[in-house]
Amino acid sequence: MIRVNIDWAISLYLFAALLSIFLLWLFYSKKSENDIALNSADMLQCNYCSFIFLMSNNKEIQICPKCKSYISADADTKTKPQKTKHKK
Ligand SMILES: [Zn+2]
Repeated sequence: MIRVNIDWAISLYLFAALLSIFLLWLFYSKKSENDIALNSADMLQCNYCSFIFLMSNNKEIQICPKCKSYISADADTKTKPQKTKHKK
């Protein structure tokens, strides 16, 4: 039988708990980087109601989901991607 005194037992228990929290944090922070809403290159702003929405596909003509007007998806109407970098 392995004999472990109370100091080592508490240390191992705390280390395992902190390691599991760290691994969960890594898993969920990695998952949020792939979120589709963060990709602002595919965002489009309506010229008529200024509603910002996600382009459903890469077609030239998009339909605004709010006012149902047709919008040309060229470079002028696309929202500019933000230059902020995510801290890792
Ligand atoms: Zn609109």
